[in-house]
Amino acid sequence: MIKVGVLGLQGAVREHVLSVEACGAEAVVIKRKEQLDEVDGLILPGGESTTMRRLIDKYDFMDSLKEFAQSGKPMFGTCAGLILLAKHIIGYDEPHIGVMDVRVERNSFGRQRESFEADLDIAGVAEDFAAVFIRAPHIVEAGENVEILSKHNGRIVAAREGRFLGCSFHPELTDDHRLTGYFVEMIKESKQLAI
Ligand code: GLN
Repeated sequence: MIKVGVLGLQGAVREHVLSVEACGAEAVVIKRKEQLDEVDGLILPGGESTTMRRLIDKYDFMDSLKEFAQSGKPMFGTCAGLILLAKHIIGYDEPHIGVMDVRVERNSFGRQRESFEADLDIAGVAEDFAAVFIRAPHIVEAGENVEILSKHNGRIVAAREGRFLGCSFHPELTDDHRLTGYFVEMIKESKQLAI
């Protein structure tokens, strides 16, 4: 069975676990860096990227997360998780994990739209995905190898670069598991390539 890790330091962890399980895979809440060896792919949940970064440093996770990213195993960053994956964050000199060739802007939908729902067309996933945005970032710029999967009002809100998948919204907060399912398929493909 495919094992999907969910980084369990902060944020919407339990909802991701349920979504992974609904897709027929096993979910593992990752609280110690050693557990990363057990899983075939990793979800970085939404929450608060600055808090998550503080906890990543506190529990000495950063090198292991970077190694995981280099190992060829897929990673999926949702909302704050997308910020963790991005190579560039507007207003910051340094990225966090910094592996996905995108430039993101935090909290970029404005105060008056702190949270909202939108129906998205996500390439290869769904034409009618009900996406929940909460103080969401968006992708301002994407490198040439990045496939743009979805836009909302002209802004990029979901993208994939090879084994890295990122979205601005919270796919785990509804019972629509199609984007999580897409990630599980990415993991299956990566396992086949590794054989
Ligand atoms: N605003 C948060 C950040 O910048 C992300 C919000 C979220 O993950 N829902 O990290």
